[in-house]
Amino acid sequence: MSNQLDKPLSTLSGVGYRMSSNLKRLGLETIRDLIYHFPHRYDDFRNGGDVSTIELDTPVTLTGQIWTIKNIFTRNRKRITQALFNDGANTITLVWFNSHWLTNQLHPGDQVRISGKVSRLRSGLQMTMPVWEKVLGESQGIHTGRLVPIYPETTGITSKWLREKVTRVLDEVGMELEETLPDKVRGNKVGLKEAIQEMHFPSDLDSLDQARQRLAFEELFYIQLATLKVRREWQAENLSEPIKIDVKYVDEFVKELKFKLTGAQQRVLNQLVDDLANEKAMNRMVQGDVGSGKTVVAAALMYGLAKSGWRSVLMAPTEVLAIQHVNSLRKWFDELGISVGLQTGSVKIKDEVPDIVVGTHALIAEKFKIDRVGLVVIDEQHRFGVNQRNKLRELAEVPHFLSMTATPIPRTVALTMYGDLDLSIIDEMPVDRKPVKTYLVPQTKRSDAYKFIDRKLEEGDQAYVVVPLIEESEMIDVKAAKTEFENLKKIFVNRRLALLHGKMKSQEKTEVLDEFKSGKCDILVSTSVVEVGVDVPNATIMVIEGAERFGLASLHQLRGRVGRGVKESFCFLFMSEDSQSEISRLKTLTQTNNGLELAELDLKIRGSGEVFGKRQSGRFELKVATLADIELVNEARNMANLILDEDSRLDKYPSFRLKLDELISSPSPD
Ligand code: ADP
Ligand code: MG
Repeated sequence: MSNQLDKPLSTLSGVGYRMSSNLKRLGLETIRDLIYHFPHRYDDFRNGGDVSTIELDTPVTLTGQIWTIKNIFTRNRKRITQALFNDGANTITLVWFNSHWLTNQLHPGDQVRISGKVSRLRSGLQMTMPVWEKVLGESQGIHTGRLVPIYPETTGITSKWLREKVTRVLDEVGMELEETLPDKVRGNKVGLKEAIQEMHFPSDLDSLDQARQRLAFEELFYIQLATLKVRREWQAENLSEPIKIDVKYVDEFVKELKFKLTGAQQRVLNQLVDDLANEKAMNRMVQGDVGSGKTVVAAALMYGLAKSGWRSVLMAPTEVLAIQHVNSLRKWFDELGISVGLQTGSVKIKDEVPDIVVGTHALIAEKFKIDRVGLVVIDEQHRFGVNQRNKLRELAEVPHFLSMTATPIPRTVALTMYGDLDLSIIDEMPVDRKPVKTYLVPQTKRSDAYKFIDRKLEEGDQAYVVVPLIEESEMIDVKAAKTEFENLKKIFVNRRLALLHGKMKSQEKTEVLDEFKSGKCDILVSTSVVEVGVDVPNATIMVIEGAERFGLASLHQLRGRVGRGVKESFCFLFMSEDSQSEISRLKTLTQTNNGLELAELDLKIRGSGEVFGKRQSGRFELKVATLADIELVNEARNMANLILDEDSRLDKYPSFRLKLDELISSPSPD
């Protein structure tokens, strides 16, 4: 059965090669994609009126006639389009910029409806850049006089264009949109067709809200179904060979440490040991703030395995981190007679496979074969896609699987994005850690801050300077870092500075980091790539430029680079412009050191995409839902459980199975 909805957008009239490729940039290829390309906001142009009674500078819709229209040059040589509009009694001026083609579309005598804000200028009343449409009888328009959808746009694709295409498509093939949720799942939520219509052209705010609820629920429901199904399958499966370890070895390792584990570390370690004793495979995520000591907990486990005849694999997201892990593991393991090896794109294990293999993606890419793997640990799990994880699992039969992350994970996020994993939280810092003193520095205090930093460097401390992430292009980030590097050289004339950025070769990065670690340089200027787990205890100062561009959780992560030793540490937040609206948000960082609290707040303020960054939001994309809505998340989860209880293989729900395949196989955003 051929479905109109799956046809490419080029089958629409007016969409040629050029438009198709523009649309592709928005990720839109089929008619269905267009229908699911939802507005990100709406202009409220429902207020009608006439010129004599309008409120100035508030959105309004007027109906009347174009009297004159022409392109003119202003005194400063700008070309504008100017029209006189009359509502039957009064006249105002309309002005558009960069729209000279309008004179071909609008002519004197045309009956139009216009929406925008009217301002009083010296020359009289004027509406600047109004949206307009010709009036056809009494029918409701799509550009004016209503809640008007504003879409994510790109070059060549305006919201106006999208509104017209969406209207036509909904008219012509909207009937083919079949309800996706059975009554039982949908409950009393609005139907799919209505929801989609209302998302694009809401009749009022209430129906818009209901439409959103319905679509958000559906999105969350599929994700819950996917993660819960994986979880159930995982739990139903026994290990092909039980992996027994002797707890006494784990205790032995812990006793050998120079420090005492925190209560939280010990609690989580016990959970992990219990998991290992089980016939089911461990499938757990350990979350703990940077510096809370996750690695050592994993190491204790790996030691126990090695002593019991099992290998462990530790996978890190970058080579730099992998090397760092090898070094810190060797510090513990060398004298205990446990071998640790590194396998990355550039470094290979040559001889015998060691007890513990540390590596990067190269482990998967090169299908490196390792026998008797009892445990796979992934560091910074959110930087890996679901696919990579599954492939990693294939490396060994069905080993125990542990992931570690420093990203604080709000409850709703854990239940959704990581719903297939058990969660353990290390919510306590080693006692010798002092909280990082954090300051939000106004421009006027910048030089004072530099003086303070210079004194600290004089005493032998070291500093990071992070330049803001400008999402559009890594090249721009690199350029900004170079500029800041040169700039700081002039300010800290007596100090040695080094530069680190994402475009450097991994070898170069390692050299720079080694230099910084060994104290050969005082200030490390870096793009926000400062590797998520870099550990330099002597670094006590973190300077973040353009702090307003980061989410609270990311800032907290960056701040976690310092405060790793016994010395007092400082974090200075600078803003590009002292934008008032951001101050209160950033202030919270000066008030709390609790990562989870900050992440929950971020989620509320900026939505889920921001918490994890576009790239890191990772496993599943959310179009409509936000994870701030705990009620909806719970509702979706309960419903998914209900359906799986009834039909664990989803035999009765082929369309759900299709959806899940789509979700799980979609390429990871890395
Ligand atoms: P994470 O991976 O959670 O960011 P690490 O495991 O790298 O943290 O630990 C950070 C540092 O703290 C390491 O140098 C580690 O040896 C040390 N450390 C870990 N646990 C403790 C503890 N309980 N007491 C003191 N130091 C600890
Ligand atoms: Mg770590």
